[in-house]
Parts: sequence; structure tokens; C-alpha cells
Amino acid sequence: TERTLILVKPDGVARGLSGEVLARIERKGYVLEGVELVNATAEQLAAHYAEHEGKPFYQPLVDFMSSGPVLAVIASGDGVIAGFRSLAGTTDPTTAAPGTIRGDLGRDWGEKVQKNIVHGSDSVESAEREIAIWFPGR
Ligand code: ATP
Repeated sequence: TERTLILVKPDGVARGLSGEVLARIERKGYVLEGVELVNATAEQLAAHYAEHEGKPFYQPLVDFMSSGPVLAVIASGDGVIAGFRSLAGTTDPTTAAPGTIRGDLGRDWGEKVQKNIVHGSDSVESAEREIAIWFPGR
């Protein structure tokens, strides 16, 4: 069955939203296969965000992701990759649809990075690549 890599980003952990995010994943019917609170290393973030290297928001993004612990999650279930991205909502929390994690729980905090609570893999290839970054050996 399909797997995806989800991160509750430092803003979500700091605001006490980890349980809310996990609850939404479970209520949707997906299975939690791994949950771990981690302080992201520079190596993990460089690998995770390699596709954004060179973009104006890259360094602020890496700094933000290093600002506190993240909750790394493996969730499984048929269609979980697209399903979680649907639960998360679009990237910008200001306009993400109500009912989604970002739409219900996020906002613009006036900073260079969009603090948008969660990350979710966007394809089978990125899910397997990202699981190897956050859960080596899984
Ligand atoms: P994620 O990959 O975290 O699920 P996403 O796929 O919606 O989010 P990406 O385009 O992969 O968004 O961007 C990764 C992250 O970089 C975003 O979640 C956000 O925190 C930040 N980001 C993306 N675009 C911008 C932007 N234009 N300005 C500031 N921050 C941004």
C-alpha cells in the first residue's frame, strides 16, 4: 500500500497542533506507520529541499525548518499521497480552503517564509526519497 512522508513543521509543533494533524490523518482513515519528533539537521534539510535551492525563499525556509523540532510522520493507505495533500490544502494558508489543515489553522504571519504547518510528499518517488531522509532504513 502507498506511503507518504508528512512533516508537522516547527510552527505547527510550537503551536501545539501536532495532535490535531495526527487526528485528521487518522480520521481520514490513513494509518500512522511512524511518528518521531526530530531536530532537523542541515543535511536533512538540504536533501529534503534540494529542488528549491537557489530560490529566494530557500534560506529563510531552511532557517525556519531549523528553528524548532518537526514531527516526522509516515502514513499509509491507498491514495494517501494525494489524499494528504488534499487534507493539507494549498501552499498559501491565507487562501487555502476552509476545511483543510492550512485553511483552518494557518495564516500569514508577515514573514518571508510561508509558515504553513505541514509538508506532504507530492509523488511516489518523492515519498520514498523523503522517507529515506527522515526515517533511514524504513
Ligand atoms: P510542502 O512541499 O511543504 O508540502 P508545497 O508543496 O505546498 O509545500 P513547495 O512549493 O514545495 O510547497 O514549497 C515548500 C515550502 O516552501 C512551502 O511549504 C513554504 O513553506 C515555502 N514556500 C514555498 N513557496 C514560497 C514562497 N513563494 N514564499 C515563501 N515561502 C514559500
